[in-house]
Amino acid sequence: MKYIEPHAHMVSRVTDDYERLALAGCAAVCEPAFWAGFDRGSAAGFYDYFRQLTAHEPKRAAKFGLKHYCWLCINPKEAEDVKLAGEVIALLPEFLECPNVLGIGEIGLNKNSRNELKVLEMQVDFAAGHHQLILVHTPHLEDKLKGTRLILDVLKSDTRIRPERVIIDHVEEHTVGLVLDAGHWAGMTLYPETKCSPARAVDILETYGNECLWLNSACDWGVSDPLAVPKAALEMKKRGHLAATIDKVIFQNPKKFLGQCPKFKIG
Ligand SMILES: [Zn+2]
Repeated sequence: MKYIEPHAHMVSRVTDDYERLALAGCAAVCEPAFWAGFDRGSAAGFYDYFRQLTAHEPKRAAKFGLKHYCWLCINPKEAEDVKLAGEVIALLPEFLECPNVLGIGEIGLNKNSRNELKVLEMQVDFAAGHHQLILVHTPHLEDKLKGTRLILDVLKSDTRIRPERVIIDHVEEHTVGLVLDAGHWAGMTLYPETKCSPARAVDILETYGNECLWLNSACDWGVSDPLAVPKAALEMKKRGHLAATIDKVIFQNPKKFLGQCPKFKIG
């Protein structure tokens, strides 16, 4: 089995996890910029984080033959401070040239607040102005549907945004249709305890088809499973899906979306 892990926060994972990903057949791991579990105190904290994502983490991955790519932004959980967000966005241009940077993400909403929405608009504007792919985080639980609608409205109102260059992540049964109908890609995040289990994700695939969808683990510093994608592939196999269908979902689809960035190269 060969697959791509399109959403993993490897700065929070031990080196053994890189080895496990490689052993499971992972060919590339992609790391969106995210919340560290605590709020950073200044833009300088983000500057160092971006250095970690662009210079240090690719070297850790390379030790296991894994390619490492990343996305940069200020994440929605720290987007309440609009002034800080502006300072962080001002840091981004110098990092866009790095060979492993795929685009802007994971931007989006967390609590659907007015300030989060303002910062989302700022980052969509930045991505459009710099011809970057976009990866979007959607809120959890009861805020998800409203947040997804707000995000889709922001994307639609910027006429420079091409829908097929945006992936909306953490979709569930009640949001996946909205996202696909708007012409975007949709990401399903597999969680070991709550939210979308591998079985639920495969149910969604069986309902909505396998175009413009990918699976990811979004493993981070919390309870999460770096091997969630190969486990979902196993669930597909158990249900009788063909090897070519599984390959499309876990390898060809992420390769197609990410390949819209010329820096993403995979054999
Ligand atoms: Zn994430």
